[in-house]
Amino acid sequence: MELLDGKKILGEIKLELSQKVQNYIQKGRRAPCLVAVLVGDDGASQTYVASKERNSIECGFTSRALRFDASMTEDALLLEIEKLNADPEVDGFIVQSPLPKHISAQRVFDAINPEKDVDGFNTINSGRLMKGMNSFVPATPLGIVELLKRYNIDTQGKHCVVIGRSDIVGRPMSILMSLPSQFGNATVTLCHSKTKDLKQFTLQADIIIAALGKPEFLTGDMVKDGAVVVDVGITRIDDNTKKSGFRLSGDVKFDEVAPKCSFITPVPGGVGLMTIASLLQNTMKAYEAKNNL
Ligand code: NAD
Repeated sequence: MELLDGKKILGEIKLELSQKVQNYIQKGRRAPCLVAVLVGDDGASQTYVASKERNSIECGFTSRALRFDASMTEDALLLEIEKLNADPEVDGFIVQSPLPKHISAQRVFDAINPEKDVDGFNTINSGRLMKGMNSFVPATPLGIVELLKRYNIDTQGKHCVVIGRSDIVGRPMSILMSLPSQFGNATVTLCHSKTKDLKQFTLQADIIIAALGKPEFLTGDMVKDGAVVVDVGITRIDDNTKKSGFRLSGDVKFDEVAPKCSFITPVPGGVGLMTIASLLQNTMKAYEAKNNL
């Protein structure tokens, strides 16, 4: 069993990006700029935004977070998005989910200029992905493909079972794995909450991508020997022994599943960090496209 080490690959990607940034700056250009918009005070969202900001700055990007109160109206948020769309110094921006209930997330994502939509949640980017066109792909599925790529995991003709069909993880993941590309071309089964006898599918899988948000759902008896297992789940579990008061749990029962796998991602230290890596890559892509580089 080998760990798919998100921390190591994030480090490699940050080094590649910072070398590019230095190169562009030496040529007299400004650095790429990523902005994160955060509405409300959700603890996990604050941690994610702080981490995105820190990692961007470590690559030499300019980065800032715009923080707003949970009572902000949808119209006020749409106005902020208009300003970011119009700002020539901003290459890409994200609006962190979840948003307060009174705000329509899709309306907000669709207000983002598709060329600055580095989270890939805008309907135009989703459509482009579906058609296999150049697009901004949501960072978590894109990061998973990058991880498979960097470990040279063969996906051609393999059976990939994706568990979870959300717009931001499961469904785009299933599309990426099925695209006719070097790290796609898999035969994909997309399982979800209405799937009957899920185990019969996971037992056939060469690659399992678990993205359902149910701690330790995938157990050893559901996985065949030699499978590649990617754990997307991140759930905070109360834990008084931790300084933070919680620990993070993935969707995979790691101790049971890992011994059966050829490769597996840890939680933390796997997909979460690859999500950041892909967001940084998407920001560089937006910057280069804008500047015809
Ligand atoms: P979601 O709640 O939007 O979707 C969950 C999906 O799982 C649904 O499509 C549902 O049909 C399916 N599901 C639920 N119960 C199931 C069951 N018993 N059997 C089969 N399918 C079932 O969640 P999401 O936004 O896709 O996130 C999933 C998990 O991934 C969460 O833990 C989330 O925190 C985590 N996540 C991690 C990252 C990261 O960067 N690592 C990014 C996004 C989400």
